[in-house]
Amino acid sequence: MVSAVRTVLGDVRPQDLGVCDAHDHLFFGSPRLPGQELRSVSAARAELAAFRALGGGSVVQWTPYGLGRRAADLPQLSRESGVHVVAATGLHQAVHHSQDTLDGLRGRLAEIFVGELTEGIGTSRVRAGLIKVAGGFHALDAHARWTMAAAAEAHHATGAPVAVHLELGTGALDVLDLLCGELGVPPHRVILGHLNRSPDFVVHRQAAQTGCHLAFDGPSRANHATDWRMPDAVRALAEAGFGDRLLLGGDTTTAAARSVNGGPGMPYLLRRVRPRLELELGNELTDRILTANPSRAYAVEWA
Ligand SMILES: [Zn+2]
Repeated sequence: MVSAVRTVLGDVRPQDLGVCDAHDHLFFGSPRLPGQELRSVSAARAELAAFRALGGGSVVQWTPYGLGRRAADLPQLSRESGVHVVAATGLHQAVHHSQDTLDGLRGRLAEIFVGELTEGIGTSRVRAGLIKVAGGFHALDAHARWTMAAAAEAHHATGAPVAVHLELGTGALDVLDLLCGELGVPPHRVILGHLNRSPDFVVHRQAAQTGCHLAFDGPSRANHATDWRMPDAVRALAEAGFGDRLLLGGDTTTAAARSVNGGPGMPYLLRRVRPRLELELGNELTDRILTANPSRAYAVEWA
């Protein structure tokens, strides 16, 4: 079995990802952020070009089912920019979906995830390369348990990695207990997102000890602790021996945050976060976090 990263243009060898933005969004729309949708194809194209110009090689889009992924537009954007793009299946917190949408998914969620991973999203034939789900603030509600059970089932059927939005960075250990403890997903197939938003270094280390991947993925948004604690948090994990478990991303979720609209956007990761981390960790480890780590996190032996 060969392990591969499932991009919107097909499966690629992990070493071909290059410098990777391990959690971001080219397209995203939630009823929680009205008027802020990432919907413009030309803005997405410009954002990818700006990321590419700084040496970016791949972007993993964590936008799940029903939130405006524009899957059919992704292959051409990837081809034009020369940036590998990975799309997601999965489901966000209940507040990001209409009740009608959720009702329509009862009893067939895992089946939809598997279909999007193996056959394609909608009629686009563009396959997802990961399953994105979400926890809650310091807790997991019934919706989170439902979506994580479906994610685990889809993981067992396909091998796909499971990426988790942690609400304000919290609930990491509850998520790991459920996904890995109860549902049997191997920890190295789990990517926890937004750990930067809750800089409890002890919890970070406890989560890392399970073998999961830890994503620090919000430098493009002003999230209180995000920017100024992040380098310390990353260094603490690296010094504890978990340097190979760390991932970085931009997590652009609103139109105003795009660099082409005057925000930090995707280039910020390479323009400012990378040099800041180089000061903290040195060039060699920073480089590994941006290249080798994401290729390990997202490459799986697809069933
Ligand atoms: Zn995100």
